[in-house]
Amino acid sequence: MTDHMAKQDTGWNFDNSYARLPQTFFTKVDPTPGRAPKLVVLNEPVAKELGLNASALRSEEGVATLAGNHIAEGSIPLAQAYAAHQFGHFNMLGDGRAILLGEQITPQGERVDVQLKGSGRTPYSRRGDGRAALGPMLREYIISEAMVGLGIPTTRSLAVVTTGDVIYRETELPGAVLTRIAASHIRVGTFQYAAQYGSVEDVQALADYTIQRHYPEVDASENGSEQRYLHFLQEVIKRQAKLITKWQLVGFIHGVMNTDNMAISGETIDYGPCAFMDGYDPATVFSSIDTHGRYAYGNQPRIAVWNLARLAETLLPLLHADEEQAIKLAEGALSEFSATYQQSWLTGMRAKLGIFHEEQDDLALIEGLLSMMEKHSADYTNTFLALTFNKTEESDLFSAPEFAPWQEQWQARLGRQKEDQTASQQLMRSANPAVIPRNHRVEEALEAAVEHGDYSVMERLLSVLANPFAHAPEQVEYAALPEPSACAYQTFCGT
Ligand code: AMP
Ligand code: MG
Repeated sequence: MTDHMAKQDTGWNFDNSYARLPQTFFTKVDPTPGRAPKLVVLNEPVAKELGLNASALRSEEGVATLAGNHIAEGSIPLAQAYAAHQFGHFNMLGDGRAILLGEQITPQGERVDVQLKGSGRTPYSRRGDGRAALGPMLREYIISEAMVGLGIPTTRSLAVVTTGDVIYRETELPGAVLTRIAASHIRVGTFQYAAQYGSVEDVQALADYTIQRHYPEVDASENGSEQRYLHFLQEVIKRQAKLITKWQLVGFIHGVMNTDNMAISGETIDYGPCAFMDGYDPATVFSSIDTHGRYAYGNQPRIAVWNLARLAETLLPLLHADEEQAIKLAEGALSEFSATYQQSWLTGMRAKLGIFHEEQDDLALIEGLLSMMEKHSADYTNTFLALTFNKTEESDLFSAPEFAPWQEQWQARLGRQKEDQTASQQLMRSANPAVIPRNHRVEEALEAAVEHGDYSVMERLLSVLANPFAHAPEQVEYAALPEPSACAYQTFCGT
């Protein structure tokens, strides 16, 4: 072989810092090879950001790597151990169907996890098969990319391959592997695992590792003191408050906010039964198993605090030698969530209504709108779109008698700011998406792909979701609501 014919370098540049943590945090395990891997989606912009060569990823060896059939040089495959409260009940979990290949060091010098999801059993699989079906992996790909477009911190999807294996759920389904990219996969549940099954030294090792990886501001300012871990907890809480705010502002419902599904990095993680709300109702739940509405839209901020309290508990021994003092410090930190949340939510809601600065009565104005929206089941996304483009003639809400006085109040509020109408509309356009991944549109894309091998519907959907604030003509049809249906949309876990 001459030099120019040499195999293309894919660009994998793995380091494996997680494998250098105490042994208790993981088990080294190779992915299970698939029978006949085939690449079905590749995220070229993400490949580029990672310093990976897209055409090399499409080659036989590239696809084999994405399927778990080939281990790239420098990768040390491992399954991470973690525990979690699932619907309030504590369980030992761990990566039961995911394997970390390593951390890719990007050309910008960033360190990101590369994980295969659906690549076979691990020591943490319990009774599961370690597999994933094509539909749910494509769904994670679509929703995570939609989140990127909406400006919401999230794990990303590099690729989906079909494995050529059949997997068994209620029916036979095509097996698939998603390559997930994350700042890291350290979860609240990883800390719970360390505290429950390890030692205080293990918790400290994990905290130090996490601080170094995700909280350089803490790392730079403290040195080994108790203050360091309090500061860390405070910063995690702040990031979560900001993340949940962003979910609430676009009507995103995670669906299964168990403590294993909350990443310490502040990214949205683990897209299972998630979906976007249509008609505004804080009690909205999509997940078929969330029968009590624990993870309903309106509960998400409260659940975040509950989960963060579980994190705080694991850190108590690091916060203060005296437990009572430690608890006081943790409670103080947790109580900051609501102030951060409330403030960023108000700022976000003001932007959705074209308001630049704070006024005392803004909350009442916003709540006035939301309660009318709830009463009339007004579509969350489209109501704000209609207000943005002054198309208020079209719905029950806008023809309701209580709407006109609210609108007058709102217009008066806009009239009191120095910014003009154009600026105000610009602000609204940048805060109110033209398009969200509507459930019926996502289902349509998945059906074409899974049933007919036709990925064009998904590609089109992804392209309109990439820039939801463009308000481009081709996005208009994606704002349309589904035909009324007899049964409510439901999503499923562990698929
Ligand atoms: P999730 O509902 O995806 O957050 O997963 C909860 C736990 O169940 C995690 O420990 C997963 O690794 C595990 N799990 C989910 N599906 C499977 C599967 N098919 N095989 C093995 N473990 C699984
Ligand atoms: Mg999970």
